[in-house]
Parts: sequence; C-alpha cells; structure tokens
Amino acid sequence: MPLQISLPGQEQTGSKVVGIDLGTTNSLVAYVEAGEAKVIPGRDGGLVPSVVTLDDDGAVMAVGTPAKRRALIDAGHTIYSVKRLMGKSYTDVKKDSGMLSYALVPREEGLVRVAIGNREYTPIELSSFVLKELKERAEKYFGEPVSKAVITVPAYFNDSQRQATKDAGRLAGLDVLRIVNEPTAAVLAYGLDKKKNGIVAIYDFGGGTFDVSILKLTNGIFEVLSTNGNTYLGGDDIDRRLMELFISQLQRIEPNFAPTAEELQQIRQEAERAKIALSELQHVTVDLQLPRLAINYKRNVSRGELEMLARPILDKTKQPCIDALADAGIKASGIDEVVLVGGSTRMPIVKQLVQELFGRKPHDSLNPDETVALGAAIQASVLSGGISEILLLDVTPLSLGIETIGSMMSTIISRNTTIPTIAKEAYTTFADNQTGVEINVFQGERDLVQDNRHLASFTLKGIPPLPAGAAKVEVTFMIDADGILHVSALETHTGIAQQIEVKPSYGLTDAEIERMLRESILHAKEDIAARRLGEAKTEGERVANATEKVLGDIRRGEISLSKESLASLKVDQIIDSLYALRKVLSTDDAKEIKALTEMLEEVTEPMAHEILNASVSQALTGKVLSS
Ligand code: AMP
Repeated sequence: MPLQISLPGQEQTGSKVVGIDLGTTNSLVAYVEAGEAKVIPGRDGGLVPSVVTLDDDGAVMAVGTPAKRRALIDAGHTIYSVKRLMGKSYTDVKKDSGMLSYALVPREEGLVRVAIGNREYTPIELSSFVLKELKERAEKYFGEPVSKAVITVPAYFNDSQRQATKDAGRLAGLDVLRIVNEPTAAVLAYGLDKKKNGIVAIYDFGGGTFDVSILKLTNGIFEVLSTNGNTYLGGDDIDRRLMELFISQLQRIEPNFAPTAEELQQIRQEAERAKIALSELQHVTVDLQLPRLAINYKRNVSRGELEMLARPILDKTKQPCIDALADAGIKASGIDEVVLVGGSTRMPIVKQLVQELFGRKPHDSLNPDETVALGAAIQASVLSGGISEILLLDVTPLSLGIETIGSMMSTIISRNTTIPTIAKEAYTTFADNQTGVEINVFQGERDLVQDNRHLASFTLKGIPPLPAGAAKVEVTFMIDADGILHVSALETHTGIAQQIEVKPSYGLTDAEIERMLRESILHAKEDIAARRLGEAKTEGERVANATEKVLGDIRRGEISLSKESLASLKVDQIIDSLYALRKVLSTDDAKEIKALTEMLEEVTEPMAHEILNASVSQALTGKVLSS
C-alpha cells in the first residue's frame, strides 16, 4: 500500500499521469497528448539537469539549468549525479567519493548522506528536489495540479534503489503509480512492443553511465534476458579527456597553472560544448577565457581528434555488450532490433560502433535524450486508461531470499521470474524454546549471504516455546509490478498470523518522509526567496563576466572597433554599471541585483551591436564571396 500523506493545503487533485525519466545527468517529464507522447518543455527546453544548489541552511537556491550554471561559481553547494547514490550506504559508495565535488558523510549505518553547509541530506531528498521541479513544470504546462507519475529506473536497480526512487517521488508530492525499467520504456517509445515477439538490444550511453540490456518480447511480456554495463562510463569521460588536453596545453603556457574548482567547471563546460558541436560539425573552435590567466586559450578541435580521444572510452562499451549477449544465450545475429538511448549516442562514431557490434542499423529516429521519458509517458497513459492495448510485465533481475544457518542464502524467488509474483518457503526454529527469529533478506546469486546484498531484517516475535525444529515459520515474498519486495511471515504451528517488524536497511520510514514533507512545506517560502536570489546572482555573474570579457577583448585589441564606434559606446557608463553590479552581487538583495543586471544589459546593448557589425565586416574583408 503506498503511503498516503495528506497535509493541509496539499490538494491531491488532477487526473493526469506523467512519465518521468529521472536521469543521472538530466531528467525529463513527458505526457501523451492526442495519442502522441511529448516531452513537456520549460523555458530552457525539455531537459532538466539533475543538479541542485542548496545554501548553508538548507534552502533550495536552484534546480536544473540555473543550478548547473551555479556549479561554475558555487561548486561546493551544487550537487549532481545523485542517482549514483540512490538506495546505497556510505560503504557502498565510499570508493567513488573521490569522483564527486561534494562531501559524503562518513557514517557507516543507514543511507549515505551528503553534507552541504550546515546540513546533511539523503539522496532521496536531493532527488525529490529534481522531481518537484518536473512536477511544477508539468503543472505549469497543464494549469492544474499533477500528483501521479510513472518513474523509470535502470533495469539492474535493486530493491533498495527502486524503493528510494519511489520515496523520492512521494517526498516530491507524487504518487508513483509504477516504476518501469528504462530499456522497457525505450522499447515502448519506439512502439516495438506492437511487433509482439522478438529480441531487442538497448544500448544506453548517457553522461555518466553505460547500460546495455537484452529484452525478450513475447506477446506483450517484457523479459530482461540480461543487463550489463559500466556505472562509471559516459560522455563525461569524453569531456574529461578533452579537459585534460586543454589543461596540459594551458600548463605548457603557464607551468604553475592549477585550475580552481570553478575554473575546472568552466573548462568542463567548454569541453562538452565542443564535443556536442562535433557531432554535427567537422571542426570547432574552443575559446577559454580564464580571468586569472593573462592569455586567452583558443584552439581548433577536429572531429577526428575528438574520436581519437574518445575511442578508448567507446571501446569499453564493447565487452559489456558481448557479455550481455552471452548471458542472454544469444548471438548478435539473434537480435531483431537495436535501440539507442542517451545523449552520447548522438556521436556518429557511436552509431557506427553499435552497428558493428549488433550487425544491424539501430533505431535512432527519436531524440535519444527523450526516448525513455516518452516510453514512461506511454506507460503513464496506459495506467490512466488513455492507451489500453499494452500489457506490460517485467522480470526480477536478481534472486531474492533469506539467510539460513551457516550464513547461506536460501533463495525464495529466482532471478528472471516474471513479476508480479509471490512465493513461500517454510523454515523451522534452530534452538529449543526459541520465541523469536531474526530473518535477514538478501538479493543476489551467490551461495554465501556475505557476497549478496542485504536488503532488510525482519524480527518475528511471539513464537510459542517449542522444541527446536517444531515451530514452522512460513516466509512469503511478494514482488509487485514495480519490482518492489513485500515480505510477510507466519508461524504455522499455532495457525496464528504473527506480527513482523520490517526494518529496511536503506529506505526511509513513513515517519521520516512525513517529517521531511512537513519541513519542506514549512520552508517553502524561504526556498522561493533563496531561489530567487540564487537565480538573480547567477544571471548577474553571467552578465558581469560577459561584459568584462568583451571590455578585455577590446582593450587587448582582439575585437577591433573603429574610433567612432568606440566613442559611441559610453564605456564610462558601462564600467560604472559593472562596478555597481559587482558590488551588489556580494549582498543578498535579489531585487537590486536584478535591477542592476538589467541596467548593465541596457547600457551594453549598443556595444553588442557595434561588435556584431565589426565582426561581420571583418569576416567579409578580404574574402571572395562565392557566387
Ligand atoms: P543523458 O545522460 O542521456 O542525458 O546524456 C547526456 C550526455 O550526452 C552528456 O555527456 C552530453 O554531453 C552528451 N550529449 C548530448 N548531446 C550530444 C551530442 N549532440 N553529441 C555528443 N554528445 C552529446
């Protein structure tokens, strides 16, 4: 039973069910309108970067694109890649903590927590901020409250990770009707389920992760034959290669150059911009303006050069594909369809590699960033009664069972069982007069529980005192359509159902969720104010930096303007406005920052015109125009 929390002022109205792709790098919300799945756009397009900026006291300053921009100037308060931490403990993720620019709290027990300013957050709370943003985006679009959603997760997500995703949804005020596997959603988006039978390979290469899944479709039942991948492989690695190249060249010019966190972000964004442009163009110019350095770094990068840098990273996607095929017991020639998912599959070299691997042209007509969200929207439409012909069933990716004597795993539900499913096993007591049994639930394929993943502990109390082996405890595992496990236990000797206590190791209790929800409502006003300030500061910094850069370019003669143009620019007025804006940027006066940003934009407008005119005439000078 999903937890129903009703708080004053929280209307649970609105009948629309949306589909959400909660990604490592970007998230999206989609909806089926007039029979067609569409991503719901915001001011900055469909993608909401899965990035959040919080201030020292826990107010949300920015979510999505504004937060991604803030990463440039406020790296320590800006959190990204939270999906990697979902449903995990500190022990699970500490080896990866060096890859993150924010601090994890080194506490062994419970969910891992992230430290920001004076507070600590679970990944569930951090993800809920992104989900809330998507919910609000949908509400603005429809002009009515949205409280129901389908959310996608990777096929390999275990029970804790699925549960954490569902909890994040609840915390954002969403009733999560279904958790759907991402590859299943991709197949739905392409309508391949209509073909009824066949084997589909889904190659998903995003920003930070690579997944390959082999699905079998039989009359509308989706069976995940195998999944494989690398949770630390993606377009970000390609960006990193380019960054390393730029930094090593900068160090040749300035041997002591050691980039700050903010400079690293700036270099990273320029590297990504160049990489994306090279999916369309053969050449691109990289232009890095680092205020601490005397020079501008300008360089031409060709597609061939990028591909050479990217090749070792792309080659790492090959073995997981080969292993996935082997696990599924299928040869590449047995694959009927191949689907591309994830922004990095836009690179022409990636499409080529996939075609070589699977021996057929992949489906790439949909926007690869949107495919999973569109599939989620189709599933949402099915659940709201809009589309009815699809029967959607998945299988459980890993076996589930309990610990028995000798720390052995006793499997109750085997991997690849079609879900929803229910299974029972009977156990007996080990000692005389034992009145309680501790049942530990594990997920995995290994014989010893220490090699599997601990999911939860159950204490069955109140067993009548009997000789060892006389009491019979029946343990029932039920996996619902979301792939989430429900466990119950019964002492059968007396025929009376016993009470069990469920203590999920990595979930949030209903009380915790309720507390967090109450807090978020309580702090809503502060959050809005903090956010307004965050956005104003980011925009102010952007305009001030851009103005400084142009003034610097003019001073160094990199932009040459005629004397008359220069005279018409009112440079003194620009410098005064810039100075005033810089001064107010260090305060918390959002209104004043906004006003001075607008003023600077206004006084620099003639300059922008002059520069544009100058660059057009420079471009034409000395060039023969082809007829
Ligand atoms: P995703 O995780 O699916 O949102 O994918 C994000 C990744 O795709 C990031 O590394 C982006 O830099 C990358 N990406 C987006 N568009 C392109 C493109 N046109 N060419 C190459 N990479 C891209």
